[in-house]
Amino acid sequence: MAALYPALTPEQKKELAEIAQRIVSNGKGILAADESTGTMGKRLSAIKVENVEENRRVYRQLLFSSDPSVTKAIGGIIFYEETLYQKTDDGTPFVKLIKDRGIVVGIKVDKGTVPLAGTDGESTTQGLDGLAERCARYKKDGADFAKWRCVLKISKNTPSALAIAENANVLARYASICQQNGLVPIVEPEILPDGDHDLKTCQYVTEKVLAATYKALSDHHVYLEGSLLKPNMVTAGQASKIRCSPQEVAMATVTALRRTVPSAVPGITFLSGGQSEEDASLNLNAINKVPLERPWALSFSYGRALQASVLKAWAGAPANIPAAKKEFEKRAAINGLAAQGKYVPAGSSGSAASESLFIANHNY
Ligand code: 13P
Repeated sequence: MAALYPALTPEQKKELAEIAQRIVSNGKGILAADESTGTMGKRLSAIKVENVEENRRVYRQLLFSSDPSVTKAIGGIIFYEETLYQKTDDGTPFVKLIKDRGIVVGIKVDKGTVPLAGTDGESTTQGLDGLAERCARYKKDGADFAKWRCVLKISKNTPSALAIAENANVLARYASICQQNGLVPIVEPEILPDGDHDLKTCQYVTEKVLAATYKALSDHHVYLEGSLLKPNMVTAGQASKIRCSPQEVAMATVTALRRTVPSAVPGITFLSGGQSEEDASLNLNAINKVPLERPWALSFSYGRALQASVLKAWAGAPANIPAAKKEFEKRAAINGLAAQGKYVPAGSSGSAASESLFIANHNY
């Protein structure tokens, strides 16, 4: 069974591998600022700001124009399609602003989850139709990587074999289409934290889901060196009475990853999944100190855990923008250190830093 039909040229592979490496080099991670309009509405309503395009633009401008020092910690930013075409107050396209800072522009390309009929509330993710054309356009318009989120749930009957197979396959198909169009795919099979399961159960399910995902990526000839993985950390369920230490989370997470993720993958950028900002940083730090060999960069691609304090500090008031930027700069710097196992907590770390950011059955 020879590889008679190469999926990518050597030039395409080189470009993809370089982009993936650039995003996660030197402890850098990703800001996930790709909340859909509906999800952004929930974030804005919590601070009593109306969910209109101008407010979304002003908020994202705040994030993107924070102090250039954040580029030490932020290698990539994931945009929502609307954001890719927005501009700053002075007319500079957001894409140019970000690229001029040396940050790689990414784009969410999935179209959300839909139910898998006949399952216990499980889902797949839609958006394959027309994806190649959209990817080609996004690449032309400045994006160099993409994100697609699949969701799995832990309960007595889930994840089912069907949900594992279907989500692995759709992620692989998406990844293949992205690579054909010069975009590095972030492969995100998120196992939700909802439930009262223990750490071991989450580790077991994470291993099964990741093993199936990498089998599907291989079947679809995805070039692993030009891809990134965005998994959940292995934690006990949100409703579990047992509190796990960062060291326990780190050992379970790295063990699961070592058993399932090929070392050809350059970087693993965790989602924060409803952890508080501080827990997400402490757990990432512990992951980077775990006494096991780790062949990939282990970093972050946080949405809520990079933005909760920022949103709270901003609260929609122009006068609060400098303070809100400071919150973002602080969290970015902390996570940049955590991605190198160098974060040493000192005093208060943000206005919302210790608040749980859990949202039941989270949609993005
Ligand atoms: P959270 O970090 O808020 O879990 O979200 C990251 C993300 O991009 C999920 O797709």
